[in-house]
Amino acid sequence: MTIYKAPLDDMRFALYDVLGAEAVLTGLDGGDAHTRDLLDAVLDESARFNEQVLAPLNASGDAEGCHYDKASATVTTPKGFKEAYRQYADGGWAGLTAKEEHGGQGLPAVLGLLTKEMIDAANLAWGIYPLLSHGAIDAIEHHGDDWQKEVFLKRLVDGTWTGTMCLTEPQAGSDLGLLKTRAEPNDDGSYRVSGTKIFISAGEHDFTDNIVHLVLARLPDAPAGSRGISMLVVPKFKVNRDGSVGERNTAAAGAIEHKMGIKGSATCVMNFDDAQGWLIGAPHKGLMAMFTMMNAARLGVGVQGLAIAERALQNSLNYARERLQMRALSGPKLPEKPADPLLVHPDVRRMLLTQRAFVESGRVLAAYAGLQSDIEARHPDADKRKEAGELLSFLIPIAKGLITEAAQECTKEALQIFGGHGFIAEHGMEQFVRDARIITLYEGTTQIQALDLLGRKVMQLQGAGLKHFLAEIQAFCKANANNDSVKALVMQLAAATATWGEVTQSLAQKSQANPEELGAAAVDYLYFSGYITLAYFWARSVVAADVLPAERRQAKIDTANFYFARILPRIVLHKAGIEAGVATLPDIA
Ligand SMILES: Cc1cc2nc3c(=O)[nH]c(=O)nc-3n(C[C@H](O)[C@H](O)[C@H](O)COP(=O)(O)OP(=O)(O)OC[C@H]3O[C@@H](n4cnc5c(N)ncnc54)[C@H](O)[C@@H]3O)c2cc1C
Repeated sequence: MTIYKAPLDDMRFALYDVLGAEAVLTGLDGGDAHTRDLLDAVLDESARFNEQVLAPLNASGDAEGCHYDKASATVTTPKGFKEAYRQYADGGWAGLTAKEEHGGQGLPAVLGLLTKEMIDAANLAWGIYPLLSHGAIDAIEHHGDDWQKEVFLKRLVDGTWTGTMCLTEPQAGSDLGLLKTRAEPNDDGSYRVSGTKIFISAGEHDFTDNIVHLVLARLPDAPAGSRGISMLVVPKFKVNRDGSVGERNTAAAGAIEHKMGIKGSATCVMNFDDAQGWLIGAPHKGLMAMFTMMNAARLGVGVQGLAIAERALQNSLNYARERLQMRALSGPKLPEKPADPLLVHPDVRRMLLTQRAFVESGRVLAAYAGLQSDIEARHPDADKRKEAGELLSFLIPIAKGLITEAAQECTKEALQIFGGHGFIAEHGMEQFVRDARIITLYEGTTQIQALDLLGRKVMQLQGAGLKHFLAEIQAFCKANANNDSVKALVMQLAAATATWGEVTQSLAQKSQANPEELGAAAVDYLYFSGYITLAYFWARSVVAADVLPAERRQAKIDTANFYFARILPRIVLHKAGIEAGVATLPDIA
């Protein structure tokens, strides 16, 4: 049985001390009430729910998995999942950050991300159901018409129904331009949707009576490729104009996948057979609408990485304190015991510090991105809204790509600390490794995040977000150049940031001669950018740590020093990868 204790102290440190979130949030339109007292109360309540209700279902959900009944095309989720969802919906968690006019609580996005971290740490597989609803809420809020908002959005927000994202098809994974699902218009303004979607999370389950599928499909006159994709809302049970629920729609799960991890999450093959649906937004503009959903979901998946790494860290740290094996190289530390605890061994501390270094800076990154989302939505100054939007869009592939990859390293190190006991199911560590594996794959693989970062956000959009971020880091370095508590780290950060600019310039030139250079450099560029991003948040954490009690302050300083000495230097390797170029990746016949 693994433990989970919500890291509320570190969340509050990231939110208030490092990022000054209270002043930011209360200065936004409609933000008067978003004081520390209110946010703290929500965090406390979320911790209680996740520690007591969801965390105990994590291992049992993995062991039991989901069950599909072919005759009724229904899915039964693991014992306790459905009841936990009822408590979640009754507690108002589904609409925490949705607008008040749609029945939500209108609370800040950053708060939603921190509560999400607790959900995913407690139970990653369960957390996938509300993640998809959240994406559907965002898409209908931004692109739906009044009827769709009244009928679908309100029920997603109050948790009566859940949502899905139906993009992937057998021949269309990363390349959604290849999708074939069709939507033909009916006389009454609705559409008949036909096609097969695969790997659809929460496509069928027993949490709610109805499920709202957001489906990407092609209209009859659609241009080829990704410019010909539309988004439709297709409910499991048809919905009449007055909002009443009608007959069963011809949209059903044909099977569920048998997977390596997240076994409590139902991953479905969905068959749409002339199913009734309605267009969301303009014809052929579905990919744009889906991006609204995907951006929120991608940040959410980054948070999944942070969450599972936090839980793995907590368990491996406990184990390292308790497990007695061998003596310290410098002589016994606990001579009265038969051996010393694992913690005395330097390499065990390296494995623990690696996890802590990623988790704590990843938390600041996720919260920073969440704050940009709040600023973009509600800052009174239009220029600030624009800048925040550019920063957010630049940071999403970094947060998704780097944190999910770091989570692989963290869960691997956590398991390693358990030795052979980590490989054994009863300690729960192997579940973390298996569950974590999906997060670098769905919502766009690491390669797709890297191409989005380098190809789109940096090269195509003239790097607006990168410029803001580099300017912010440079201003921080200047302001702290003589700050004794951090100046050594600042020097290193300033040098790395200057290199970031140079590497980007040189890649831009190289890729003009050969666009393949971008593909050859993208993943190294993602890591390179990500490690510097986390270094910035570590340096800010050290500056902010003055407010902490001595022991926690020292832990922050030690972890920051570890990060700068042992993790940030990885950028040298990635820079070499970027510069090696496409010539080192020859064609394979
Ligand atoms: C458990 C689970 C849940 C999922 N949930 C959903 C869901 O709810 N809704 C949904 O629509 N989909 C969902 N998916 C699908 C998921 O988003 C896709 O699997 C993912 O986008 C990758 O597509 P693919 O599997 O077809 O891989 P492919 O696109 O075939 O890619 C294979 C490999 O090639 C690489 N690659 C592809 N193109 C490039 C390129 N241009 N440059 C460099 N490398 C490239 C990829 O990074 C990857 O390593 C889910 C998948 C799983 C396994």
